[in-house]
Amino acid sequence: MKKLLTALLILVFFISSTLIAQDKDPIVEALIREATDNSQLERLGHELLDVVGPRLVGTPQMLKANEWAVAQYGKWGISAKNEQWGEWRGWERGITHIDMVYPRVQSLDGMQLAWNPSTSKKGITSEVIIIPTVADSLAFANWLPAVKDKIVLISMKQPTGRPNYNWEEFATDESFEKMKAARDEQTKSWRENIKNTGYSSRSIVKALEDAGAAGLIASNWSRGFGVNKIFSARTKKIPTVDLELEDYTMLYRMVEYGDKPQVNIVAMSKELGRVPTFNTIAEIKGSEKPDEYVVLSAHFDSWDGGTGATDNGTGTLVMMEAMRILKKIYPNPKRTILVGHWGSEEQGLNGSRAFVEDHPEIVKNIQAVFNQDNGTGRVVSISGAGYLHSYEYLSRWLYAVPKNITSHIKTNFPGRPSGGGSDNASFNAAGAPSFSLSSLNWSYWNYTWHTNRDTYDKIVFDDLRNNVILTAILAYMASEDPNNTSSEKIILPMNPRTGEQRTWPEPRSPNRDGGKN
Ligand SMILES: [Zn+2]
Repeated sequence: MKKLLTALLILVFFISSTLIAQDKDPIVEALIREATDNSQLERLGHELLDVVGPRLVGTPQMLKANEWAVAQYGKWGISAKNEQWGEWRGWERGITHIDMVYPRVQSLDGMQLAWNPSTSKKGITSEVIIIPTVADSLAFANWLPAVKDKIVLISMKQPTGRPNYNWEEFATDESFEKMKAARDEQTKSWRENIKNTGYSSRSIVKALEDAGAAGLIASNWSRGFGVNKIFSARTKKIPTVDLELEDYTMLYRMVEYGDKPQVNIVAMSKELGRVPTFNTIAEIKGSEKPDEYVVLSAHFDSWDGGTGATDNGTGTLVMMEAMRILKKIYPNPKRTILVGHWGSEEQGLNGSRAFVEDHPEIVKNIQAVFNQDNGTGRVVSISGAGYLHSYEYLSRWLYAVPKNITSHIKTNFPGRPSGGGSDNASFNAAGAPSFSLSSLNWSYWNYTWHTNRDTYDKIVFDDLRNNVILTAILAYMASEDPNNTSSEKIILPMNPRTGEQRTWPEPRSPNRDGGKN
């Protein structure tokens, strides 16, 4: 009996150990080890975000980023090139200094908005004014000459710089409700007043500039502590700067109380004429099916309020590091593994749309696209993007990924095609199986997305490493798959709002001649 038991135990041990052995794919194991023990993410992040900096389309920094990526791939033995897809207005940000100089001196926290023309070295110094409450467009027209040589505050004065979550934590229910109601009321009357001027919040900018304003100050609060969204300027000749809420509301109150504050704005920049714009493309050639493609995808450009660390520095770093470890561990993939670092996603998916338009031979032979573009978090959701059989292959590939990574991921099959938002949509529209690796948000929308606080310190490198391992294994599995993926589309459901059949998104042409006035 004892003998039998021992034999049985040995048998059980033997079976379970062979099962474990079969489970462990040595390539997968090696990819995980390389990503974990020899991560290059921190160094790459430093070089891209600290040294190259933000990557606004048409700036010298964007070009530097393109050149840096090609050189980096070269060092890893991966062939890479910069592929021109269009032209853009060339512009380079310079120094911004914003100082209150009367009734006391205080340096203010803000910056010039993108594509704004330069001031002189001395800048402009003038009294700050606000837009008055007007009864109608005639009253506004009568007031308008008063802006001559003045600096105008063009955003609403926020009643609080504390985000809602902070009020929720500390305020009494009554005072939280009171603040929200007051803010809603104030927002409503601000909008009504702008409407009364006869302009929109956009067109009033031109009216103020044409009336001879010396400069404009905006404050585009992002509803978090000390955080503003930073986009482009709409003035053609005079400076437009964005000030942080704290300093903006201080100036606003000073104007309201009759303190007549004066501000000096130095906002330097350079116009560089028309410049070429590029996608950085790198690939590890397939050994069996070189004309079939697994595509890793992340836009390379950013807005320039911060350094574009989480939009989309982190997606960029994940794809670069995944390419590095794939080249090292899996240098002869069956299918070609191509990475696209797209230009000008922020102005309308331009780089990826151009790539899709310029490379039909690649797009029709795509096994899968994996795009990442929503911040630093670990991937928590993957949708089948409306491909009927996506469940079959994606879930099979995901099965090869360690459980400590997939346990965070919710899948949604067959899902819906992406209509926009990021570059997977460009491939989606062309019918290529393309998937978004969607991240945990880490306060992305308020604190980092398109803000002045999108910087290196917000990166969560452990989550990035998680995403590198996930991406590399998915690429490996997609490349090795004996079958080609099905790109059969689902029949889209009705739109409950319109009662109409939804249709698959159509491919759209990029803007290849951007930033023209
Ligand atoms: Zn993005």
